[in-house]
Amino acid sequence: MAKASETVLEIDLNNLEHNYNYLRSKLNSDTKFLAVVKAYAYGSDAVKIALKLEAIGVDYFAVAYVNEGVALRMGGVKKSILVLHPQSVNFDKLIEHCLEPSLYSPKILREFLEATKRNGQKDYPVHIKFNTGLNRLGFWENDVDYIMDQLKERRDIRITSIFSHLAATEDSTEKQFTLKQIDTFTKIVSDFEEKLGYSPLKHILNTSGIINYPEANFDMVRSGIGLYGFANDEEIDSQLKPIATLKTIISQIHKIEPNESVGYNRAYTSEGYRVTATLPLGHADGIGRQYGKGKTFVSVNGTLAPIIGNVCMDMIMVDITGIDCKEGDEVIIFGGNPTAHSFAATANTISYELITGISQRIKRVFKS
Ligand SMILES: *Cc1c(COP(=O)(O)O)cnc(C)c1O
Repeated sequence: MAKASETVLEIDLNNLEHNYNYLRSKLNSDTKFLAVVKAYAYGSDAVKIALKLEAIGVDYFAVAYVNEGVALRMGGVKKSILVLHPQSVNFDKLIEHCLEPSLYSPKILREFLEATKRNGQKDYPVHIKFNTGLNRLGFWENDVDYIMDQLKERRDIRITSIFSHLAATEDSTEKQFTLKQIDTFTKIVSDFEEKLGYSPLKHILNTSGIINYPEANFDMVRSGIGLYGFANDEEIDSQLKPIATLKTIISQIHKIEPNESVGYNRAYTSEGYRVTATLPLGHADGIGRQYGKGKTFVSVNGTLAPIIGNVCMDMIMVDITGIDCKEGDEVIIFGGNPTAHSFAATANTISYELITGISQRIKRVFKS
């Protein structure tokens, strides 16, 4: 790949394909694959990622909000798109763009039935979400009869899937809890299908679930982070390839005398003679202040250099003393070494937060 000449997020679509094939290889051959492309496909580019995944055989997509689904449709994505957390104010727009809502409460179900009626819809595909212990969104086990009552003698909607979400698939100490969630879901499924009279798709696993609970494939799995190269597991991470590399260049190099300060609030003070480099990205780009004050390192010509002082809105300063480099040289913020996972860990957070936070100000470039 060409060297960066400004700050870019480089996205490798071959790595995306590798990760997709790897995750697929962990599934039963008839299990469908839903790709979660919410939040700009975890901070990359939802349309580019979805079109690539559509071309290599993904069955379904999911986003969080209606406007994310609309953007995929505008970008030419044809396959079904589940909207995980729709707001009823956007239901007409959702229907207009053939997006499929997750219905998770009596209120949202009633509001969607009003929308299908208003729009003259029949057999509109919807997904019913059950809460099995995450306690975030979802109908309760004992809401099944209520749902059936609402559907009686109505042909407005057709239940395409029923699903639930696991709270701690990456955490082996929570195995009992996870198995209990899967068991609760299994019970809901059998009650629901019996009363409904037909058989919707069933799904509960996210990426770490695919790895750790292969017995719970059901009909479909929902994977996000794994596609982007992380699985909350060192061994699996070594098999996946991060799709995104955040790169920048050195804007300016300074030679600092002992006892000088660098940056806002003089948060860094030099003990001896130091050399610093100023880089064109900051907290407005998603590299938050928690990464400053020497905690986190970036890679300058293959050598790790700490981010010193306070992270500014549009810039960071790094200590490059002893590193062979010059103004204009490329710097890797994360991607190869450090990985987004290890970069995020220096500030006690997770790859998900770091990569989804890379601002839209940064240009995305594609390698395919
Ligand atoms: C975000 C999300 C996923 C994807 O989880 P990963 O850990 O990224 O694979 C799956 N299901 C639901 C309901 C989600 O909100």
